[in-house]
Amino acid sequence: MNDNKADLKSTVWQWADRIGVKVREIHLRQMQQKWASISMKGRLTLNTELLDLPEALTEFVIVHELVHLLVPNHGKLFKGYMSAYLPDWQERQDRLRSL
Ligand SMILES: [Zn+2]
Repeated sequence: MNDNKADLKSTVWQWADRIGVKVREIHLRQMQQKWASISMKGRLTLNTELLDLPEALTEFVIVHELVHLLVPNHGKLFKGYMSAYLPDWQERQDRLRSL
């Protein structure tokens, strides 16, 4: 495992701990349509392309997925958690979408 992958995974563990959710598995693979996905059982899949993105953006993707363990949709509550954990999440999301 290279340093980037180790960093990515340790970012996941740190945020899971902070948010208080249980991540059971982390998988890295090429994904066509999205940056990441998570199952309600805590199986997180991350796009390998995240390894080439700035840390602020990979962090945003990770927090977004982990908050889904609290709220499955993108409604008000979801946004409330995002703002609590990453106050500048919208800016990061815009940066990610502009890539
Ligand atoms: Zn989502």
